[in-house]
Amino acid sequence: MSDFNQPLGGNELARFSGPNTFMRLPSASDLTGLDVAFLGIPLDIGTSWRSGTRFGPKQIRAESAMIRPYNLQTGAAPFDSLNCADIGDLAINTFSLSDSLRVISESYDRILKYPLIPVAMGGDHSITLPILRSIARKYGPVALVHVDAHADVNDEMFGEREAHGTVFRRAYEEGLILPDKTYQIGLRGTGYAATDFTEAQEWGFQMFLAPDLWHKSLSGLGAEIRRDIGDRPVYVTYDIDSLDPAYAPGTGTPEIGGLTTPQALELIRALRGANIVGCDLVEVSPPYDTTGNTALTAANLIYELLCVLPGVKQK
Ligand code: MN
Ligand code: MN
Repeated sequence: MSDFNQPLGGNELARFSGPNTFMRLPSASDLTGLDVAFLGIPLDIGTSWRSGTRFGPKQIRAESAMIRPYNLQTGAAPFDSLNCADIGDLAINTFSLSDSLRVISESYDRILKYPLIPVAMGGDHSITLPILRSIARKYGPVALVHVDAHADVNDEMFGEREAHGTVFRRAYEEGLILPDKTYQIGLRGTGYAATDFTEAQEWGFQMFLAPDLWHKSLSGLGAEIRRDIGDRPVYVTYDIDSLDPAYAPGTGTPEIGGLTTPQALELIRALRGANIVGCDLVEVSPPYDTTGNTALTAANLIYELLCVLPGVKQK
């Protein structure tokens, strides 16, 4: 018997039944004693193109039911080391983006009173700004690993300063992140001007364009980033559209020529030992995910993130 919460096993209750929590972990409303809290943020009113990410958390949880506790490739045994639970969904206001961002930030302020690592299932990428506001209140400006097809550094979208494409400009302006320890990986596609990325590079953002990563292992880049971060608190934000639409079609703003699933695994696995203080996986849109593969991939990437959190032992 373990002292820690365990996912409900497939030999105890068939995997297609039972609770719709992440990996069939216990639900918790009391955060006392938790090391990791999984939560859903079912929001899609910050998107500019295809919506549907409000259904992301539910579908990621559904696909996560097949994941077993031990990572056979890396030896990680996260549930032997960390007490994990699913704390449900935040009560966002689907009629108001600004009110929803307030709810997210205030909820995180409450969650972060506990010494735990929050792992959020989005939701569109606009959820990350209020999370970072709260994270920075606790830890100060953090290093940021941002995996995405898009830099999300627009100034405004339809006059709105808070939307899924403006998150990291706001985070920079508000001093929530360390600009020279901000790594944007997988950027590609079309823009409004040839200079779309230059301003953020001048702030210090380190950008790694997808075409420069094609056909290459990301283990080396991941290790370099890991070394460059050092012991600083780091937040990891994973936009599923960083992957090629061949791997993750169920998303709002797909871009061809993206990363592969093995590259995503290499990148996450290289971050082991980093002082990760929170992470999210965003932009899974089940209505465009006809096979469920996008949510399945997202669920597994969240599991891989769990496997590299501080304190996870390897078998
Ligand atoms: Mn994004
Ligand atoms: Mn994106």
